[in-house]
Amino acid sequence: MQITTTLSANPTDDARLAEILANPGFGQYFSDHMLTIEWTPEKQWHDARITPYGPITLDPAAAVLHYAQETFEGMKAYRHDDDSLWLFRPEANAARMKRSSQRLALPVLEVPDFVEAVEELVKVDARWVPGNADGGEKSLYIRPFMFASEKFLGVRPAQHVTFMVIASPAGAYFKGGIKPVNLWLTEEYTRAGRGGMGAAKTGGNYASSLVAQQEATAAGCDQVVFLDAQEGKYVEELGGMNTYFVFDDGSIVTPETGTILEGITRASIIELAEKMGHQVTERRFGIDEWREGVTSGRITEIFACGTAAVVTPVGSLKWAGGEVPAPASQDLTMRIREELVGVQLGKVDDTFGWMH
Ligand code: PMP
Repeated sequence: MQITTTLSANPTDDARLAEILANPGFGQYFSDHMLTIEWTPEKQWHDARITPYGPITLDPAAAVLHYAQETFEGMKAYRHDDDSLWLFRPEANAARMKRSSQRLALPVLEVPDFVEAVEELVKVDARWVPGNADGGEKSLYIRPFMFASEKFLGVRPAQHVTFMVIASPAGAYFKGGIKPVNLWLTEEYTRAGRGGMGAAKTGGNYASSLVAQQEATAAGCDQVVFLDAQEGKYVEELGGMNTYFVFDDGSIVTPETGTILEGITRASIIELAEKMGHQVTERRFGIDEWREGVTSGRITEIFACGTAAVVTPVGSLKWAGGEVPAPASQDLTMRIREELVGVQLGKVDDTFGWMH
C-alpha cells in the first residue's frame, strides 16, 4: 500500500508532550498525526495518507450520521525498556475488523493493509508511545475506524467509505493498585440478539449500552452485565469487557461466542490459561450459576478482561432485587494478569509470538 506522509508543521513540543505522557488518562489527548484511506467501488482502497491530526469535514448527509454504518477497533502499542515499540496481536484486531465490516456491509480492508496502516502511524508518532521504566502500565491506545462517508440519504451500503487511524496515549487503567470492578446486572436492556450485531465492534452497540451503564452508575456500580436477549438467563459480557469464571477444581469457563464481542484479550487468556494447566471451556453460563457458585464457594474467582484493563478482578454483582458478594480469591486472576502484562511490556518471554 502506498501511504503518503505530510508531517505536522507544528508538532507538540517536547515539554508539553512530557507533561501529557506523565499523566495521559484515557482518550483525552491525541498524537500529532492521523491516517486516512478512502474507498469507492471503482477505485477500491486508495489515497492512503498520514496528515497532521485535526478535524475532518463531513457532509451533513454522510450516511454514518444517519444509519450508523461504521466499525472500529481498539488496540495498543507498548514501549519496552530498550525503547523498541511493539503492537499486541494487531493481526487479530485486523481480522476482527474484517468480520465487523462484513456484518455492517462495509468494504473489507485486508489484514496486511490494516497492520501496515497502524504500524506507519505509530512510526510517525513514535514519541507519543509512553515508556514504563517507572514500572507503570502506559501505552499508546490506537483507534482504527471505518465509516460511511457517502453523501446520500438512501438506506443502502455506502459507496464512499473512509478508514482512519488515530492514537491517544493511555495511562494505567488502575491508579493506586488494582481494584475489583463491581457490576450491575441489567434485566431490562440487552445488547445483542440472535442474528444481530453483538459480535461486531460497531458504534451502535455502545450507544445502546449507555442507558444500562447509567443504571449501573446510579446503583453505585462500575460496569453493567448483559444477559442473552432470548431467555435472559445467560451471561454475555460487560459493557466493554469479556468475563471468566474460575471453579474450585481449577477449571475455567467463559461465555461462548456468537452474540458477544470476541475479545483479543479473551482469546489470549484461553491459550494462556491452558498453558498454565487449566481446563478452559467456552459454553453458555447461567446467571443463576454465578449466584449459586459464589454463594456455595464453587466459584472461587471471577474476572473481566479487555484491552483497556487487561485483566481485572470482579467484585460484587448487584441487581434490582439483591446482591452476591465478590468471590473469595483473586490469585489466578492476578497471575494471568501479570503474565499478560509482562508479555505486553516485554518483561515475560513472548512464547506465543503475540508481539509484533
Ligand atoms: N466486549 C466488549 C463489548 C468490548 O467493547 C471489548 C473491548 N474491545 C471487549 C469485550 C474486550 O475486547 P478486547 O480484549 O479485544 O479489548
